[in-house]
Amino acid sequence: MSLFGAAALLLATGPAAPAAPVKPAAQAPERSPRAYGPAVPKQARTVALTFDDGPSRYTPQILAVLRRHHVHATFCMLGDEARRYPELARQVVAEGHQVCNHSRDHANLQKASTAKVRAEVTKAQKQIKKATEVTPKVFRFPYGASDSQARKVVHGYGLRVLGWNVDPEDWTRPPAKKITTRITAHVKNGSVVLMHDGGGDRSHTAASLEATITRLRARGYTFVLA
Ligand SMILES: [Zn+2]
Repeated sequence: MSLFGAAALLLATGPAAPAAPVKPAAQAPERSPRAYGPAVPKQARTVALTFDDGPSRYTPQILAVLRRHHVHATFCMLGDEARRYPELARQVVAEGHQVCNHSRDHANLQKASTAKVRAEVTKAQKQIKKATEVTPKVFRFPYGASDSQARKVVHGYGLRVLGWNVDPEDWTRPPAKKITTRITAHVKNGSVVLMHDGGGDRSHTAASLEATITRLRARGYTFVLA
């Protein structure tokens, strides 16, 4: 893929990696007409891996697999956990992964007061910043539960709301093989996969990751930040 193809792809895939600054004004005239056609060329298969509710003592195992396969992922951290495990939070950032705010303590923010939403978002931003020296640019609602008022508050802090569309329900602790097959059976181009590195025993998730990455890569997928 040409450099411009890659840039066009980043622009066209929507939730692109914020780490890839492009200058649309300078590059727009040089993009091929194809960039304005179908959103993503068929052969450009991308998938984003995301890990919620950490950091926790399972995070290092997950980081080790990602490191071995040169895959970058998005970690939706709870502020309280980032405060509890600052060195793990820092390691996530140091290894090039994206940090996402997942609230302070996993409160359900649907139908919550504006004050409650503000408190959960800003406290977690501070806790994550303190641990990692990075201010998250994305937010994922606990349980994916939100309403228009809560989303408005989150957007007001300049945060992009991150969802998902492949959920292997790894938190129910199915066998590792099942986590992998649930993911590989449902991943399509542009999928965002929800997994968990915190919130309980995540040994099955950690054990499943190697096969998941290997199989998706064998099918031509490249891994992007959500
Ligand atoms: Zn969560």
